Amino acid sequence: MPRHASATSSAPAPPRRQVGAIMRRLKVAIRDMELPAIEKLQEDNAATAFQTMIATLLSAQTKDAVTHAASLRLFARAATPEAMAALPAKTIERLIYPVSFYRNKARHVKEACRQLLERFGGVTPRTMEELTSLPGVGRKTANLVMIVAHQSADNICVDTHVHRIANRFGWVETRTPEQTEMALYEVAAKRWWADINLYLVTWGQQVCKPVYPRCGACAIAGLCPRIGVTRTGRV
Ligand code: SF4
Repeated sequence: MPRHASATSSAPAPPRRQVGAIMRRLKVAIRDMELPAIEKLQEDNAATAFQTMIATLLSAQTKDAVTHAASLRLFARAATPEAMAALPAKTIERLIYPVSFYRNKARHVKEACRQLLERFGGVTPRTMEELTSLPGVGRKTANLVMIVAHQSADNICVDTHVHRIANRFGWVETRTPEQTEMALYEVAAKRWWADINLYLVTWGQQVCKPVYPRCGACAIAGLCPRIGVTRTGRV
């Protein structure tokens, strides 16, 4: 698999059917749960590829409800790269507040829009290389844009939830989200790649929380080795 580097885990890879068994169970378990912010924007507000990229950029280290509301305020004022590039950075700051690092993100949004117009004719790129060449766009943002906006089946998007839960499952044994992404390309069957973010982020927000995972109320407890879990939350 030349496009992706090899896994960094020293643990033996679990059978792919273990990943498949959990993903199939999660698919059912998350059916009635609230969608994460980026998918919700696309489903409820028909977000464009450009808007998906901007909302994902805003979402770093920010709660979903804050990202969602900030994105809607910003898009109501400027829905296109042309309109957003024309806004003063201070106005973008005011519209996206209180997302974390809103001053930096406002600068990145404005500069990304300017470069999008100058280098890509205003069209949101479709490759990892082009996307990550834009200010504020890292691998996580680029992978999610590829999956959600461009319907790519070739990408896995790893955020803090995916990193934490993939390690709890024992799918990977990694220290950083980027290591987790590379390891998952090896351990997960390709049919699950695009869904891993949606399923694990939803599960991480509702059940498999960072500090007190709700193992006692977890629909996949029988499949989960709970690696590294020392405290659990109330059911
Ligand atoms: S059993 Fe606990 S650690 Fe495993 S997925 Fe469920 S909540 Fe997370």
